[in-house]
Amino acid sequence: MLRSKQALFVVLASLAALSVTAATLSLPDRGEVAATQPGVPAVGPSEAASVGPEAPAASPEPLVPAPTPALPRAVAETDVVVAPNAVQQNEDLRGRLDWVFGGKQQRGWSIYQPLIARTLGVEETAPPEEFARAVARWQKAAGQQQPTGVLDSATWMRMVQTWQSRRLGSSATPRADELVTVSASEFWDPGRPADLRQVERTTYEAYRRMLTAAAADPSLGLRVRPDGELDESEKFFKIVSAYRSREHQERLRRADPSSGRAGLARNSPHFTGRALDLYVGGYDPVSTKDDNRLLQTQTRAYRWLVRHAESFGFRPYYYEPWHWEYVGR
Ligand SMILES: [Zn+2]
Repeated sequence: MLRSKQALFVVLASLAALSVTAATLSLPDRGEVAATQPGVPAVGPSEAASVGPEAPAASPEPLVPAPTPALPRAVAETDVVVAPNAVQQNEDLRGRLDWVFGGKQQRGWSIYQPLIARTLGVEETAPPEEFARAVARWQKAAGQQQPTGVLDSATWMRMVQTWQSRRLGSSATPRADELVTVSASEFWDPGRPADLRQVERTTYEAYRRMLTAAAADPSLGLRVRPDGELDESEKFFKIVSAYRSREHQERLRRADPSSGRAGLARNSPHFTGRALDLYVGGYDPVSTKDDNRLLQTQTRAYRWLVRHAESFGFRPYYYEPWHWEYVGR
């Protein structure tokens, strides 16, 4: 028992070390690069173009280490006590915690609250005392000797690493016969050309199953046809971007003056055809600006995905609410 505990601690310590590496080495979205360059307007031509067929291709996600098992979700409630000021601290850190991801300074974790609640196994509406206890249980399960119930920097970075470690972890190209071309009506932009509407076959089948479930859920209030299919006029859950070839990404890199700053990933999960960017709201479907992502993670569509996507084999990329990867069940 002691030995297995020690082994677990070693694994967790390595994970903690990895978290810093992964979080600081990951590549930012092109939108973020543009936003941080002096003289480049936050919403300039490149952002405006992101509503067209090409630009979603320019929202690369960092390539991540090979998946490792998730941490246990919870330990018995009686096992934890929280710091006396845990509620107060969480209230403060939610909007103010300083951390770094993709080489960029980040602030707070309020954008990620649906995913955090899901990970902790509590409702988002849980009272702050219950939230703090859930944090403490998660800390304990993650090997922290003295849980505090405070979602502080160390706990947060470990949570990020846990999410990152469960991603696809591949950028392998599918064979041509593993790709299917999806009809334009299933895309957020119905004008998207056929060669940019390809999806890996099993991913598409899983997506269709998930869509059927979403359409049948009245709590989402989606526009649904009498036959149960999503109505063409409904934008939520439509595909913004799916398979992107290396050649296509390379063309975008050459065309984009900021590509030299690694704004476009050389390796992307979209190369596999198993990554789907889905419309989850926001003023831009694929902008990583904080206010856009905060709008997105508050939509019913996003929150539904957080609760249900995994049962269809899809896992989130926490930083981009629209990006989901099919890892299977
Ligand atoms: Zn994506």
